[in-house]
Amino acid sequence: MAEKEIDNRFNKFGTVSFTGLTRVNAFIDHLQQGKVMGTRCKTCGKGFFPPRADCCKSLDSDMEWVEVTGAGTLLTYSTLSYAPTGFGQDLPYTIAVADFGSVRMFGRLHRSIPAEDILIGMPLKLTVRQLPDGNVMYEFLVAS
Ligand SMILES: [Zn+2]
Repeated sequence: MAEKEIDNRFNKFGTVSFTGLTRVNAFIDHLQQGKVMGTRCKTCGKGFFPPRADCCKSLDSDMEWVEVTGAGTLLTYSTLSYAPTGFGQDLPYTIAVADFGSVRMFGRLHRSIPAEDILIGMPLKLTVRQLPDGNVMYEFLVAS
């Protein structure tokens, strides 16, 4: 029997990846091409971010990839002084939830945004960041 190849593309995501094995590994390929993608159920149209391979509404797996584009809105945020294991070297950083219409996204605010400029409701856009170790992640920038 041939040795099974392990698809662990998610090991390339972010500072610390806790999820190396998933059915939505193409997310990393898209991210490496500069695109932040969610999935959408072809049956009912529900959008998912993080991307999911199965729809919890239709209970099927007929999904398509959809790029998250345009401006989102900052819903809530928290600037961290303490971090989980593996994220300490990034402190301080700000985590946030933004509404992009079809999906709500959890992520980090880009370091270039001064703390005093962060406002609930401010427009945000996505950017893909290449980390020094070759991993990739997305962050929120202020949209103009
Ligand atoms: Zn569905």
